[in-house]
Amino acid sequence: MVEHEMERDGTMRVEELPGQDRMMSDSAGAGASLAARPTAGSAHPLLRRPRRLRRTPALRALVRETNVTMDDLILPVFVTHEPDTEHEIASMPGIRQWSVERSAAYVERAAAAGVRAVILFGIPESKDATGSDAYDPDGVVQRAIRAIRERCPEVVVIADTCLCEYTEHGHCGLLDARLEVDNDATLEILRRVVVAQAEAGADMVAPSGMIDGMVGAIRGALDQAGFPGVAILSYSTKYASAFYGPFRDAAQGAPSFGDRRSHQMDPANSREALRENALDVAEGADMLMVKPALAYLDVVRQTREQFPEVPLVAYNVSGEYAMVKAAAQQGWLDEQRIVMEILTGIKRAGADLIITYHAVDVGRWAHGG
Ligand SMILES: [Zn+2]
Repeated sequence: MVEHEMERDGTMRVEELPGQDRMMSDSAGAGASLAARPTAGSAHPLLRRPRRLRRTPALRALVRETNVTMDDLILPVFVTHEPDTEHEIASMPGIRQWSVERSAAYVERAAAAGVRAVILFGIPESKDATGSDAYDPDGVVQRAIRAIRERCPEVVVIADTCLCEYTEHGHCGLLDARLEVDNDATLEILRRVVVAQAEAGADMVAPSGMIDGMVGAIRGALDQAGFPGVAILSYSTKYASAFYGPFRDAAQGAPSFGDRRSHQMDPANSREALRENALDVAEGADMLMVKPALAYLDVVRQTREQFPEVPLVAYNVSGEYAMVKAAAQQGWLDEQRIVMEILTGIKRAGADLIITYHAVDVGRWAHGG
């Protein structure tokens, strides 16, 4: 029942055979405590030694369950209407707003570092009640999609689809007489937005407003306009989160009054996410998302288990990025190790893909840069 092997140093150890757990623990005596576990070389050798597989870097690599690669990462890119410029975002060190042309050059550099997909956010020249720049064929994001397509044809281009960066009030849709987001009127605008994004060359659109019925509405619009091949990444579970603070600086899309709690999810809820996911899959979402990531890894796991067959994205948001950067700048933690641990944790929780501002850094680290 028990196989004896000689260790290199000549001591004897015991390798257990499959199915012998109970018998062996019984033989160690019923009720034996951890403290009383026998040790190697004693009459009752230690049978299970997980440390064996952790001994060397090569052994650890062999048994590693989760690997983060550049194929898993999506880089957010902020594009401003201002010509020939770039603005550092104070609360997100290393991340900038780029003019259209510079955004394409930035994506080219990111691609050289290994980035394979980007998601675009626009800062338009003017905002209005309907967010018209979002569906203008010459709107800032449509111009950026064309520029990136031309310069980096191999990069997957995802267009964020919402109105909050484009409306004068900063809300994610049209407002009704009571100054609340008018859900169904907003769907009509979103249909126009995705067609403009698809015509510009987007591979995928990503509705982020948590507007009921948004996935079905834009699926229909894309199909009717002749874009059945443009995929939909739904922000299916997006929480009303304080972790978006730095993003509001970056995209200049903070609401001028009120907040987004009437459409984004309550951070206290997770069962509600199952309902959102199911609706979006039924409406035709090709991929699901949980946003933010770190405080919601249980929701990532639940979504993974609910739809094992649907690719799942987690958004490692601006506030998560800013916390790491701020602490790293203070010398309080090792940025590279922390970032890899965070991304690995998000993937281990069940995400296939991660939208992260760290993507270019990760690519450079992988190349030893
Ligand atoms: Zn929005």
